Amino acid sequence: MHYLDHNATSPLRPESLSAVTHALAVGGNPSSIHANGRAARAIVEEARDKVAALAGARPENVIFTSGATEANHLALFGAVEGSLEGEASRITRIFVSAIEHSSVLATADRLAERFPWVRTTRLPVTGDGVLDVEALRVGLREGKGRALVAVMAANNEIGTVQPIAEVSKLVREAGALLLVDAVPAAGKIALDFALCDYMTLSAHKIGGPQGAGALLAAGNVPLAAQLVGGGQQKGLRAGTENLSGIAGFGAAAHALADGEGERARIRHLRDHFEAGLKQAAPETVIFGMEQPRLCSTSGFAIPGVLAENALIALDLDGVMVSSGSTCSSGKVAVSHVLAAMGVEEKLATCALRASFGWSSSMEDVHAAVQSLAKLRERVRGPKQNEAA
Ligand code: PMP
Repeated sequence: MHYLDHNATSPLRPESLSAVTHALAVGGNPSSIHANGRAARAIVEEARDKVAALAGARPENVIFTSGATEANHLALFGAVEGSLEGEASRITRIFVSAIEHSSVLATADRLAERFPWVRTTRLPVTGDGVLDVEALRVGLREGKGRALVAVMAANNEIGTVQPIAEVSKLVREAGALLLVDAVPAAGKIALDFALCDYMTLSAHKIGGPQGAGALLAAGNVPLAAQLVGGGQQKGLRAGTENLSGIAGFGAAAHALADGEGERARIRHLRDHFEAGLKQAAPETVIFGMEQPRLCSTSGFAIPGVLAENALIALDLDGVMVSSGSTCSSGKVAVSHVLAAMGVEEKLATCALRASFGWSSSMEDVHAAVQSLAKLRERVRGPKQNEAA
């Protein structure tokens, strides 16, 4: 089997698996005072240090959640609700890049429904899938009230790295707040928590287990708890911590800490894949190709080769990739990322994503290229017979 879908879920790293099983064996409730509770607490705190280090943050910034969906929700709802206390600092405007993950987009829309004084604006991106910084500059200048801006560190579908340093500067000048969804970027590029106020991470995208993630929040920002109850995590996220998930998350974060070699290897595989693909199908469009991209991600389309057919054909060859469109309740919708980039719908229906990670190999690359070449020939006919 050839698994090239690391941006969906990266297989569990061996270090993470052993941390998970160790934590399960320890058991215990991290809030208990007795020895078993203290052992569990030590596991949580060790993981907190490792997750903080991955983002250049401090352990006290880390709030463990059930994943990045919850972390994005906590950041957005928590910021708006937390800002209600002082009238002067009330958040009234939310700016989100049009290529954010749906957990950011849908939550920002819901906020505008719940709080009538909040306006949510989607910021455009260029045809290359990079935030239009000028649109943010203009947006921040117009209108009154405190703003909250959400721009991901890099896109999960096509890998384009977003201009966070530039965005951060604008946000700081405007006295606004910045949420950076760092889910696909974590471990692939350096993260600098100092540039933002909120950052979100997910364990299963870096070789940790599913169901664990984190919101990193700076010390002085508005943040109202969304889950209340037992008062865990300084009252910001009640609920007994997911001990084994958090342990596995910490181990995965630590495995990435010194990941220069791994990143170079992954980039080599991704570049090899794209070169092979271009050779087999020169008409292939690689999205965001001219921009800085994550080493792990290749979003592409072979015109005329429908993504839904390709997924099945590749799967039959043991090659697992993902389509660039979302499929829910049996209906295939064109990717909102490609739509925001202005990619024609006809081409967008052919969009696929191959994403590489710690367990990927050159055999995976060869298998994927071979399978795509075979499919392309079946659909379009042999390369040499084509007019164009
Ligand atoms: N943000 C991005 C950019 C993602 O790719 C994902 C996962 N697809 C999420 C957030 C949600 O993460 P989780 O699965 O941990 O809820």
